[in-house]
Amino acid sequence: MGNITMPLQMETPGRNACALCPRRCGANRRLAAGRCGARAEIRVAHAAPHLWEEPCISGVNGSGAVFFSGCPLGCVFCQNHAISRGGAGRVVTRQGLASLFLGLQAQGVHNLNLVTATPYLHDVRAALAKARAGGLALPVVWNTGGYETPQTVLALRGEADIWLFDLKFHAPVLSARLANAPDYFGVAARALALACAQTGPPVFGPNGLLQSGVVVRILVLPGHRGDAVRLLEHLAGTLPPGGFMLSLMRQYTPPNGAALPPPLHRRVSSYEYRAVVQAAQRLGLHSGYTQGKNSVGEGYVPPFEI
Ligand code: SF4
Repeated sequence: MGNITMPLQMETPGRNACALCPRRCGANRRLAAGRCGARAEIRVAHAAPHLWEEPCISGVNGSGAVFFSGCPLGCVFCQNHAISRGGAGRVVTRQGLASLFLGLQAQGVHNLNLVTATPYLHDVRAALAKARAGGLALPVVWNTGGYETPQTVLALRGEADIWLFDLKFHAPVLSARLANAPDYFGVAARALALACAQTGPPVFGPNGLLQSGVVVRILVLPGHRGDAVRLLEHLAGTLPPGGFMLSLMRQYTPPNGAALPPPLHRRVSSYEYRAVVQAAQRLGLHSGYTQGKNSVGEGYVPPFEI
């Protein structure tokens, strides 16, 4: 893969007119929350060892997950609505965030897993610098819904070792309806190509844990297996073989309390999921994970299978 020559240029000097995600909503977050729900202060909803990522991420000791409040996408089927709309969590300083990172490392986790951190990009980079000065030596995972600007991806060069990259929707009509983001696929596809070029092919440590590279996650949605297949075709047609890991997820669960219209009111059938897995095999996408049938259900541990 070639080098990226696009100049690193953040579109906003700070949070006075935020443009950190493709919404570019221009919010002055010192005065009000942006469309993602994030305000100027750093808000962390949860930080703990996490055992439910892919095996190459969670390993035995867990991934050091830090869930940030707010989300640029806001999918209607989100399982973490209290977090993704920005209300949940506690406010921390950059130094406090660095201490959180170091505390997770002290618990023996395999990596630092930053979940939906995009609205806090500048704070996270500053906290990582502080933590590294204090001894942080873990690989850093950028865990994202895929709705990222090129500028944000480039700002993470040398900061994020691993991308856990959701590729959610192909059809604009679907992303418009479910995440109010008709431009999702074009934006995410560009960000994914940049992330893959930036990290290079997956590199594993002697313990089988991922040290660098990209894991592309596709969550199969009920009634929309064709969209997932379009995403697979895109991956097979544009990214180099062996340039990423694929994670095909069947854990979609209708969120509690949300009256979603059919077909989002139900889980993914075995027929639907199998059709997507077979498409991946047909396209030569063999490097990655599928999920067992019992991985559905809120709060359930999804057992990934190689
Ligand atoms: S990160 Fe949030 S505040 Fe910033 S542009 Fe995106 S939606 Fe707006």
